[in-house]
Amino acid sequence: MITASPLPAQQPRTWQRLWREAIVDPRELLELLGLGHLAASLLPAHDTGFALRVPRGFAARMRHGDAHDPLLLQVLPQAVELLEVAGFGHDAVGDMAARVAGGVLHKYAGRALLIATGSCAVNCRYCFRRHFPYAEETAAVNHWRAAIECIRDDASIEEVILSGGDPLSLATAKLAELTDALAATPHIRRLRVHTRLPIVLPERVDNELLAWLQRLPWPAAIVLHANHANEIDDSVADACVRLRAAGANLLNQSVLLRGVNDTVEALAGLSARLFSTGVLPYYLHQLDRVAGTAHFAVDDKRAGELIAQLRGRLSGYLVPRLVREIVGESAKTPL
Ligand SMILES: *Cc1c(COP(=O)(O)O)cnc(C)c1O
Ligand code: SF4
Repeated sequence: MITASPLPAQQPRTWQRLWREAIVDPRELLELLGLGHLAASLLPAHDTGFALRVPRGFAARMRHGDAHDPLLLQVLPQAVELLEVAGFGHDAVGDMAARVAGGVLHKYAGRALLIATGSCAVNCRYCFRRHFPYAEETAAVNHWRAAIECIRDDASIEEVILSGGDPLSLATAKLAELTDALAATPHIRRLRVHTRLPIVLPERVDNELLAWLQRLPWPAAIVLHANHANEIDDSVADACVRLRAAGANLLNQSVLLRGVNDTVEALAGLSARLFSTGVLPYYLHQLDRVAGTAHFAVDDKRAGELIAQLRGRLSGYLVPRLVREIVGESAKTPL
């Protein structure tokens, strides 16, 4: 087990504090897991441009002494990331940058997606964010001015989606600034939040956040992001119970990742664990093909077989929808 160093009593263990105490040194993480002797063979020989970052509580859920641990593989920078692989480029980045002017994306009917912030508590190796030049061009700048104008002016928008980065990286007061400004907008029917924070730093689900959720004028959906059942320990399950008690509907999206969750056992185990904590599986995404992530790719044929096997084994509502995001399409594309 990994334990944080003791703190003076007067300093409360707020989520902000736990955020700052995240592990950022890959060697420290490997040492904590009893894998220090593998540092030279596992770690990249030079900078990948995307640092390790993992909250200590998430690292504590990794198996000691297992270099193939499914949680470790999601966060550890590895030498294979430096290989250039055809089809995995930086091109997607240009597309991404074009998509976020003002921090508002209105691509899908009825839904406005806000890139609320570029920050995350964890750096996931497979994420397109590794190449994404988040600058000040996120929706929360200037008191959400562009986002609020865009949403108020377009009566076709029924759902506001907070995404990122991780929107729960923002202080709750900042989130309330947006939802208070939109409270009187009659065409809004739903709020959705896409977040990995309740999984990687469940302390983020504090009383202030719950109070904000409770006084929202719309029904809310929270789409979590867990890829493996081992990510959901009792602290995460407890955070989910509290989110549900505050009125949120809980869904989960995952990314299909080779070596992490590309077996029927891993996917079935994830669905079962999610449901036991009050969360329904929503999407299983095929990887965005960005440089440095090719070692996580699972081909579409294998992905389809996995979903077919899951269907043969699980209740229909425990089988996530396998999708790929294709730039320019008006919805996620089912595979
Ligand atoms: C994924 C996405 C959504 C949400 O899509 P759902 O299928 O409703 O989950 C909305 N807007 C954008 C730009 C997206 O990429
Ligand atoms: S956006 Fe989500 S997947 Fe990407 S690094 Fe942040 S938490 Fe991880």
